[in-house]
Amino acid sequence: MEQQLLRDKTQTPVILEETLKESLAFLANLADRPAGIRTSPSIEDNLAEEGVGSLAALTSFQEQFSAGLSGSPGPRYLGFVTGGSTPAGIAGDWLTSVIDQNVASAGDSSANQVEYQAVNWLKALFGIDQAYAGTFVSGATMSSFTGLAIGRQWVGQQLGVDIGHEGLASVGAISVLSGCAHSSVFKALSMLGMGRACVQRLPLQEGREAVDIGALREALEAQNGRPCIVVANSGTVNSVDFDDLVAIGQLKAEFPFWLHVDAAFGGFAACSPEYAHFMDGINAADSITIDLHKMLNVPYDSAIQLTRHPDLQQAVFQNSGARYLEVNAAEVPFVHLTPENSRRFRALPTWFSLKAYGRAGFRDLVERNVLLAKQLGEWIDRSPQFELLSPVHFNVVCFTLNAPKEELASLITRFLAALTHDGRVFLTPSDWKGTPCIRAAFSNWQTEESDLFIIQQALQEVLSVYQD
Ligand SMILES: *Cc1c(COP(=O)(O)O)cnc(C)c1O
Repeated sequence: MEQQLLRDKTQTPVILEETLKESLAFLANLADRPAGIRTSPSIEDNLAEEGVGSLAALTSFQEQFSAGLSGSPGPRYLGFVTGGSTPAGIAGDWLTSVIDQNVASAGDSSANQVEYQAVNWLKALFGIDQAYAGTFVSGATMSSFTGLAIGRQWVGQQLGVDIGHEGLASVGAISVLSGCAHSSVFKALSMLGMGRACVQRLPLQEGREAVDIGALREALEAQNGRPCIVVANSGTVNSVDFDDLVAIGQLKAEFPFWLHVDAAFGGFAACSPEYAHFMDGINAADSITIDLHKMLNVPYDSAIQLTRHPDLQQAVFQNSGARYLEVNAAEVPFVHLTPENSRRFRALPTWFSLKAYGRAGFRDLVERNVLLAKQLGEWIDRSPQFELLSPVHFNVVCFTLNAPKEELASLITRFLAALTHDGRVFLTPSDWKGTPCIRAAFSNWQTEESDLFIIQQALQEVLSVYQD
C-alpha cells in the first residue's frame, strides 16, 4: 500500500476526530458567518506527485477555503429555498459516507429496506397514497426529469409507441401545459429531448401565480384528444401559490393527460393541518416531485420522485435488455428505476430525520417558518421603503423597493449586493409579473423570531446607508 494511504489507514480515528472538531467549530459559529459570501479563492492546478495525508489536507482546506464558506445552512440565509441540516440529517449523512452502500440492486443490503421505509414515511408525512412508488434522486430537477420521462412514456403508450425503445421521433412533439412552471421543468424537457418550446404557458388567475382552470380546460380541448402532459405547481417560487389540484384532477375524467405535480417545497404544506388544504387533490397526480434538501433540512442533495406507474418508470429506466418482470414490483432493483445506476444511500439522512423528529418536528418547522414569513410580510407592508407584492401564502415573502419601476432592477441589484456584503441576511432577486422583486424564503430549522429582528434591522440599515 502506498505510504500515505497506509499512514491514513492507521490514523483513521484521529482523522475522524479532527474532522469532528472542525465540524463542531463550523456549526458553533454558523449563525455568525456571513449568510452569503462572494469569494475568489486562489485555485491551484498543479497536482503534487506526493500526497500530504488527510490531516494535512484538512489543515490546507481550512487555510485556503474555510473563510469563504457561506452561512447558507444557517438561520438567516433566505435565498432560493435553501434548508439547512438538522443533527439527525447530518448523522444520517455521515453514516451514509462511512457505510458507503451502493443502493442499486435488490436484496443485497438492508439499505434497500431503509429506502422503502423512508419512502413510506414520506408518503405518510405528505398525505400521499401508499399506492405510489417512490425513489430517491438528487434534487427536484432530477425528480421532475424522472416524472416527465415517465409521463413521456405514458403518452407514447397511449399512442401505441414504446418511446423508451423506439425513441421520441415516432410520436413527434408532446405538449406540456402549465401555468407557472419552474425553470427546472424547462431544463428537464431539454434533457428529455422534448424541448423547452413544448411548454404552453397558460394564463394565470388574476393577481396570482395559480393556473386559470378555464384556460387549462380550453388548452386541453385544443389537443383534440391527443394525450399530453400537465405540470401543476404546488408552491410557485415568488408567491408560493398552489394550483387547484382537485379541479385539475377532475379534468382527467374528460381529457387524456399525465399529471405531474411539482411540489418541490410546497409539498411541505401537508405537514401542517393549517396549510394541508393547499395540497388537496395531490393523489390525482401521476408523478410528484418533492425536494428533501429544502424543508426537510437534510444535507444536499436529496429529493423524492413518486409515481403511480412504476411499470412505466421501469420501461424508461431499465438498465438492461432483460426485464425483471418475474420479481415482485416492490423489489425491482433501483438501478432500473432512476437516472443513476450506482446510487448514494440518500434515504438514510431522511430516515434519520423522520425517526428523530416525527410529524411533530416537521409540523413545527413548517409552521414556524411560515409564521416568520408572515411576520416579515407584515413588517414589509408597514414599511414606507418597501412594497409587499403578494400576500404571504406560505414561506416566501415577495417584495420590492419603493422606487420608480424603471429604476428597480438596478436598485435591487445594488441593494442585494450591499446586503450580501453586510452579511446578516442573504436574499435573492426575482421577477413578479414584470416587476423586479426580492424574495425572502424561510426554510431553515434554526430560524427563530430573534433572527427576524436582525433581518429587519439589516434591511433597514443597509437600505439607509446605501440610499445616502
Ligand atoms: C427548488 C425547486 C426546483 C429545483 O430543485 P433542485 O433541488 O434545485 O433541483 C424545482 N421546482 C421548484 C418549485 C423548486 O422550488
